[in-house]
Amino acid sequence: MIADIGTRLIAPHGGELVDRSGDRPAKVDSLEVLTLTSRELSDLDMLACGGLSPLEGFMGRDDYESVLETMRLGSGLPWALPVCLAVDAAPAGDRVALADESGRLYAVVEVDETYEYDKEREAQQSFRTTDDAHPGVARLYEQKPLYLAGRVTVFERATPTFPELAKDPAETRAEFAERGWRRVVGFQTRNPIHRAHEYLTKVALETVDGLLIHPLVGDTKSDDVPAATRVECYRVLLDGYYPGDRVVLSAFPAAMRYAGPREAIWHAICRKNYGCSHFIVGRDHAGVGDYYGTYDAQLIFDEFEPHELDIEPMFFEHSFWCRTCGSMASAKTCPHDSAQHVFLSGTKVRELLGAGELPPEEFSRPEVAAVLIEAYRS
Ligand SMILES: [Zn+2]
Repeated sequence: MIADIGTRLIAPHGGELVDRSGDRPAKVDSLEVLTLTSRELSDLDMLACGGLSPLEGFMGRDDYESVLETMRLGSGLPWALPVCLAVDAAPAGDRVALADESGRLYAVVEVDETYEYDKEREAQQSFRTTDDAHPGVARLYEQKPLYLAGRVTVFERATPTFPELAKDPAETRAEFAERGWRRVVGFQTRNPIHRAHEYLTKVALETVDGLLIHPLVGDTKSDDVPAATRVECYRVLLDGYYPGDRVVLSAFPAAMRYAGPREAIWHAICRKNYGCSHFIVGRDHAGVGDYYGTYDAQLIFDEFEPHELDIEPMFFEHSFWCRTCGSMASAKTCPHDSAQHVFLSGTKVRELLGAGELPPEEFSRPEVAAVLIEAYRS
């Protein structure tokens, strides 16, 4: 366990930051080796660094069942989504090694149990649908048939895609503490940040000490903007339009599950481990297609008592530039007709960028648009 460096910061979920990194055990090469999917590798890396505190490994049956039915671990602590390791068969030994597809070894699991699970039931509970056109459900249906549970010891961390943005929870906490921050708002994103999201991060920042821009860099759908392009967009935006002493940019190593409401809870709990006291939840957070209602990812927070999650959600509407207000606004704050609002659909934006044209400055900062146009060209 790592002691909480910033005593003024919110406590990690469950009270202490888990550290499941450790030395490479002797004779690890003689163990049975299981090959992880990219999603499982992302989860493993977050288990190693405490991003998934209080989890110390892949979930056992009791926690799994409890999470599906009640959105709480067996201990009663809130937890929204399964963190499980799918296998073909129960291993012979009581320890197994975990590898990626190239055979590189990362960790050892002390095997607690291997158990059956019902994919359709998990889909319905986690994703609110059993439709295999849903990307999270499709991935679940492709999984191996059993779950293997047990505590992990990670002796080889995954190579981060963006080393300068790779910050473990202990590191973001130390950075917040060093800056004297107590209240920090986390912003999850898997998209470039245009004016609308810049606005809501800044509205949130007005009420707290600091902002963690925490883009997800694990697996996303193939039609999402690639992480490398997004990271470039974040850099130019932060350089030009955010106060450096109030913002930390760091990568969130998780893979997208597209579980909408439940993933919003899961995202919030993970950010609490990184030291955030507040978390931005927009409309259709972590959603895909039309599987979730516009406000489902906000309403689900009401299924917990206020003290249970500890981290405070901050709910936002879509925002836009209003010509009459002469500022960014939302339906909550602007009384004018939508004809006054600068709004571009995602399709329209892609059309403009693909044609090498800058969207209006009221929609996208020109520096960000330039990065995207360049990415479309290549
Ligand atoms: Zn207005």
